[in-house]
Amino acid sequence: MNFDLNDEQSDIRDMVRRFTAQEITPYAETWDETHHFPRAVYAKMAGLGLMGMTTREEHGGTMLSRLLGAIVYEELAKGEMATAVGLSVHNMVTGSLAHFGNAEQRHRWVTGLAAGELLGAFSLSESMSGSDAAALQCRATLDGDDYVLHGSKLWVTNGGEADVYLLMVRTTPTKGATGITCIVAEKGMMGFSFGKTERKMGLHSSPTRELLFDDCRIPTANRIGEEGQGFKIALAALDGGRINIGAIAVGVAQAAFDTACTYAREREQFNKPIGAFQGIQFMLADMAMKIEASRLLVYEAAYKLDTGQSASMYASMAKCFATDAAMEIATNAVQVLGGAGYVRDYPVERYMRDIKVSQIFEGTNQIQRVVIARALLGDIR
Ligand SMILES: Cc1cc2nc3c(=O)[nH]c(=O)nc-3n(C[C@H](O)[C@H](O)[C@H](O)COP(=O)(O)OP(=O)(O)OC[C@H]3O[C@@H](n4cnc5c(N)ncnc54)[C@H](O)[C@@H]3O)c2cc1C
Repeated sequence: MNFDLNDEQSDIRDMVRRFTAQEITPYAETWDETHHFPRAVYAKMAGLGLMGMTTREEHGGTMLSRLLGAIVYEELAKGEMATAVGLSVHNMVTGSLAHFGNAEQRHRWVTGLAAGELLGAFSLSESMSGSDAAALQCRATLDGDDYVLHGSKLWVTNGGEADVYLLMVRTTPTKGATGITCIVAEKGMMGFSFGKTERKMGLHSSPTRELLFDDCRIPTANRIGEEGQGFKIALAALDGGRINIGAIAVGVAQAAFDTACTYAREREQFNKPIGAFQGIQFMLADMAMKIEASRLLVYEAAYKLDTGQSASMYASMAKCFATDAAMEIATNAVQVLGGAGYVRDYPVERYMRDIKVSQIFEGTNQIQRVVIARALLGDIR
């Protein structure tokens, strides 16, 4: 066992670290304030190969290991969580299409997605089905060579900005999870429009939109896999997605910790740096411990997925532990800065607002615990 990054891993980490410092960190505050979606930055990330991280080279991707992916997401999230999340969703969609799509579908979408010419979005949740995702109702009825879609999807990251939407829709009402099918909707299709944009606590530069389908005809050629395979495709995508969110949480936590540490050295009260007080030292020590533990869990889950081992429980552990830790660390970073932490002169209040959602999306942390417990105990009722 070797805990050091190899040369390739540290080279890619350093490249993304430089990119984040130049292209993301200086603008993150403004994007947050103005709710700006930085599409131009996605084009630059495509130039570094980051838009095709889950795609083979024959389709224009870079096919990084999940471990390398985790290193990339951590570095990006140190600059801004929202952009890292948008990229993670995009790569989740691209990877699903590359893996489950046929040759024609890969040619049609994957190459453009990997090149950053197209942006992807993933749509499982609905207003009445969040944690109980298999209860989704958005209906797709077969009519000749088309599916006809009626209904709506909620909470779609990259919604409105994305070109390619990986939808989970109901094709058989009576069949539960096995009545769900995966279909690609493209922006601009007749009968496909966008509903409300969510007004969120944080993650402001990541648009979260509702999708509306009214008599929307989508050719069967846009179906990914077989009818009834949609939920399986969604769950497979979420294993990788959860590891990415864990890595993003590590990045936000590290950024919050770094800000708190610097402040603790510089800020003086009672004629001493506040870092000299044990009350502050213990907070910083706990933060550092939890960041190290989170990072190792994320790396382990990524390693399991990379080596073809059963990874779902580890992905849930990594996501749950790292995001709970990051929420605590961001909150305590605000505490270390006192009043300065609560205002926008420092980024820690943004980290705290942004990171909250990591405990909620890609399966809430209660649902991660359900997944972990089921893996440990079996499906006892
Ligand atoms: C900013 C943002 C972006 C998102 N992006 C996407 C996206 O791109 N694509 C997408 O498909 N979805 C997306 N989502 C949706 C997200 O995945 C859901 O919000 C999440 O799965 C929770 O569903 P819910 O909000 O309906 O909560 P609910 O399912 O209603 O849960 C409410 C509460 O009950 C708890 N709960 C529910 N069931 C159980 C149980 N069995 N045991 C214990 N506790 C339970 C939950 O943990 C939670 O605390 C996004 C959400 C947000 C906020």
